Amino acid sequence: MTLTAPITSPFATAPTTAATRTSPLAAARQQLADAAAHLELDPGVHEMLAHARREMTISVPLRRDDGSLARFTGYRVQHNLARGPAKGGIRFSPHVDLDEVRALAMWMTWKCALVDIPYGGAKGGVTIDPRQYSRGEIERVTRRYASELAGFIGPEKDIPAPDIGTDEQSMAWIMDTISIGRGHTAPGSVTGKPLGLGGSRGRGDATSRGVATIGLAALDSRSLPRRGATVAVQGYGKVGAGTARFFAEAGLRVMAVSDQYGAIHSPDGIDTDQLDAHVAVSGTVVDFPGADPLPPDELLELKVDLLAPCAIEGVLHEQNAPRVNARIIVEGANGPTTPEADRIFHDRDILVVPDILANAGGVIVSYFEWVQGNQAYWWTATEVEDRLRTRMMASWQHVLDESTRSGRSLRSAATAIAVGRVAEAHRLRGLYP
Ligand code: GLU
Repeated sequence: MTLTAPITSPFATAPTTAATRTSPLAAARQQLADAAAHLELDPGVHEMLAHARREMTISVPLRRDDGSLARFTGYRVQHNLARGPAKGGIRFSPHVDLDEVRALAMWMTWKCALVDIPYGGAKGGVTIDPRQYSRGEIERVTRRYASELAGFIGPEKDIPAPDIGTDEQSMAWIMDTISIGRGHTAPGSVTGKPLGLGGSRGRGDATSRGVATIGLAALDSRSLPRRGATVAVQGYGKVGAGTARFFAEAGLRVMAVSDQYGAIHSPDGIDTDQLDAHVAVSGTVVDFPGADPLPPDELLELKVDLLAPCAIEGVLHEQNAPRVNARIIVEGANGPTTPEADRIFHDRDILVVPDILANAGGVIVSYFEWVQGNQAYWWTATEVEDRLRTRMMASWQHVLDESTRSGRSLRSAATAIAVGRVAEAHRLRGLYP
């Protein structure tokens, strides 16, 4: 992406958060409770981990291009700092609220612990639809948000990165804002920066690369041949588009993809290069000439080997889980499966590769970016990709072994490993005062 490109499309799909469905925070806390019971965690430690260490709610005023004043609410939640500085993305979306950010921050803590990088977990967000504002307006919102948080952000404190609705340009603005305030350049205060500002090679497609790596390993674990294996990708955005491309490169057949505007389907497989060219011009997968339209809900119920939800939380829930026809679900998004759906998938022997493992590629390469920056020495793309693969496969094997040993789902196994590591860090540090 170039520095002059507009902010990327904020969502990959329309939200499905009916009031009856488990909220992301309730889901995250249920997963924690499950791990706490399995680990026989001290109830006080469980209680501590169910709540964030710090939560900041910020009012973000904006002088609009027409001179009027608008106001938005922003958040930064630092869920846990026991294993290192807080780490996690910043989301710009009209659906952001404090509970969503709390859930996403908790998942970041488990994700970083699971893949064993020396960070705690955080998440930030601003309740705004970036598509409704000019580039200058988004820059001012981003800078004001960053300046309000400046005292809490930094390479040893809390390191933001892109998420839905933000990108490398957003990180450049945040880095610049923090740096101006300090009087010196502080590149380590964010990751997902442009290459020209100390970003890492391979960061842009790292999440997708990781999802594909783990999706292929999951196929192998079920003895399903890779060549010709069928895939549906929900959310053809920053994560989903790259995931589809990596799957296609590995010989899989991408049968269906969707975005917030609609879904498309082709039994013969979708040419992802041609689709990317279509999306670059039209901004959506809809009306791609190489495929037929499909009702978006039906994408989640297609008979496929792999289903990759790559958009937002809660899209696989109690109501549609009984109709899901995939053999494996690999979670590119954070929190796409509710705990009720998880139970249904477990009973139906559908393998769910959890988000904290499947989509950890992004934060792993964020860590590589931070390490490279600290050493002021940058790696080649091949070095980044090899190290990413090694780390993802080690975590996958650890989770698979633990799941096989305990007879529990991959999510239960992964969450228990992660929560156990965080609890151990608390035990070693002791409680202050
Ligand atoms: N937003 C990404 C995630 O949810 C990346 C976070 C990061 O790199 O810090 O994992």
